[in-house]
Amino acid sequence: MEMEMDFIRKLPTPQEIKEQFPVDAEITRVKEERDEEIAKIFSDNEDKFILIIGPCSADNEDSVCEYMSRLAEVSEHVKDRLFIIPRCYTGKPRTVGVGYKGMVHQPDPDKPEDMLAGLIAIRGMHTRIAKETGFTCAEEMLYPENHRYLSDLLAYVAIGARSVEDQHHRQVASGIGVPAGMKNPTEGDLSVMMNSILAAQHEHTFIYRGWEVKSKGNSFAHAILRGYVDQYGLAHPNYHYEDLEHLLQLYSEKDYKNPCAIIDTNHSNSGKKYEEQIRIAKDVMHSRHEDPEIRKLVKGLMIESYLVDGCQPAGGGTYGQSITDPCLGWEKTEKLIYDLAELV
Ligand code: PEP
Ligand code: MN
Repeated sequence: MEMEMDFIRKLPTPQEIKEQFPVDAEITRVKEERDEEIAKIFSDNEDKFILIIGPCSADNEDSVCEYMSRLAEVSEHVKDRLFIIPRCYTGKPRTVGVGYKGMVHQPDPDKPEDMLAGLIAIRGMHTRIAKETGFTCAEEMLYPENHRYLSDLLAYVAIGARSVEDQHHRQVASGIGVPAGMKNPTEGDLSVMMNSILAAQHEHTFIYRGWEVKSKGNSFAHAILRGYVDQYGLAHPNYHYEDLEHLLQLYSEKDYKNPCAIIDTNHSNSGKKYEEQIRIAKDVMHSRHEDPEIRKLVKGLMIESYLVDGCQPAGGGTYGQSITDPCLGWEKTEKLIYDLAELV
């Protein structure tokens, strides 16, 4: 036997899906406007602070859209100081390999996997969010091959802690035209992240979706600090003042464009004690006030937040509660956003 897998069906290309489910001119305009503003923030031409905020996994279109419309309302009140990019993550990496892998696999978390329905569902949800709220969102590039199914809707792309050392992710990140946040790897070696930023900032010739392609280099590839785990599986934070000073030092050692960082307040920074995100976010704001270089370096925070506090097992049935990492619920989130606007 040549391969021990079934080729179930040929899927539509990104171009075909985009033709079948196109975005309208208004969404294209909104994306362009937001892309421009985000580029200004990452290149120090605008002094707003970015919040990449939303559920760990966007598991249900209705609860996600309800969350997004609440977020859009708050965003209106803080938009002079904060630039909000919602997390709408539809592909989830799994530490142990199995479990809910996101809407792209399972449009309905209670039903079996269906990748075609998944591709249509994630495009539908991102389009609905853009229409209803004027937000373009952040995604994790879990599968580089899939990026173009959503590329006309995204504002920001993160390369996850488990993918950041992978050459293909780095190459694709070098050609996506929106900022790519390269996370530190789960075991915390910052050289992996720094190398990844450098790689993504360069141009590359490589194979992508059956083509020989050449990327232009992503001058807005930057660091995301998400904490790390040691050889005993214990979580260690890397958001403190000293960590930020260290990152400045690492950036100074080579020729990076737009040296920036986003601080992830959950994951190994909070040890997934989701409520700690509030304190961690404020701690980072304090560090920004202590040192103008840190202020310039740290362009934003990544916060895991949803309608209901905490998390539940997949199939748990609580509307708006995470089925992956625990999230801050809406009340705490709303208060935190207003507090952060005061602390910018
Ligand atoms: C996430 O953002 O939900 C995530 C899985 O992050 P990381 O890659 O840092 O684990
Ligand atoms: Mn998460």
